[in-house]
Amino acid sequence: MKTEIRAYAKINLFLDVTGIRDDGYHDVETVMQSVSLFDTVEVELLDDERITIECDKEGVPLDERNIAHKAARLFFDRANIKKGVRITIKKNIPMAAGLAGGSADGAAVLVGLNGLCNNAFSKEELCKMGASLGADVPFCVACGSMYSDGRGDNLKEFASIPSNTCLVIACGGEGVSTPWAYGMLDKDYNNFAGYKKRGVKALYEKIVAGDISFCDELFNLFEATVSRERPVVSEIKEIIEKHGARRAMMSGSGPSVFGVFANVKDAERASNEILKKGYFSCVAYPIFERK
Ligand code: ATP
Repeated sequence: MKTEIRAYAKINLFLDVTGIRDDGYHDVETVMQSVSLFDTVEVELLDDERITIECDKEGVPLDERNIAHKAARLFFDRANIKKGVRITIKKNIPMAAGLAGGSADGAAVLVGLNGLCNNAFSKEELCKMGASLGADVPFCVACGSMYSDGRGDNLKEFASIPSNTCLVIACGGEGVSTPWAYGMLDKDYNNFAGYKKRGVKALYEKIVAGDISFCDELFNLFEATVSRERPVVSEIKEIIEKHGARRAMMSGSGPSVFGVFANVKDAERASNEILKKGYFSCVAYPIFERK
């Protein structure tokens, strides 16, 4: 028995870091959007208790370090099912890019195994289960347009940007380690002592108004700090802006960047120029439910 699941990447339309918690994690306030850039994850149930991973891209861990592997182990333990799984990942999402590629693969394994096991868990239960794998996993299980605060796994539905919003998602240079990026923020913002958060009200209202002016409210606290160390972020932003994007912004802890375009032709031109530089780039759209 096998099934194939799309593991959608996410972008952060808003990402503020609001403090450091007693447990050492940072509190964030974020709005995430699933996008039509996806890995394909095939899960095939096995009768023996092995978990194996194959992936078409070099550099992806194929053992217990892979979030997909951890997700399978967790699922079988929680469901008390004595089976194994062969996981085959076709990787399209750039790694360590701020697009939650690993989390998306982990979420896809939870969703896929759940389907093959007679929907043993509800979507809410799968989201909860996913939280122990990583802060972005519950969102990747849920998919769509979500607000989250705390560690990033306290999800609430958020207003959706128009479905025809045309995006360019691009990434160049070395990946960014999220702990490194938080360390840089701690220095820049004095460990968040007295930090004043912005809030997502203005973004919410502009999205509800239904026009592209929501772009004025996009925000990412990591952007200034990470782009100082990674000039490729500004290089890609400049190309996107030159081709008429309404706004360009880094996603997550970077170095990926997304641009919002009113017009697909301009988006394609920007994406082609970025590809010519040897970087990753694609044209994408928001996704509101898993297909
Ligand atoms: P986030 O936005 O959630 O911080 P990211 O997009 O920055 O995530 P990932 O692509 O998820 O980062 O990968 C970060 C690291 O996780 C990689 O360097 C890799 O070693 C490890 N990893 C574990 N499982 C996977 C997976 N299935 N795909 C990609 N990387 C994985």
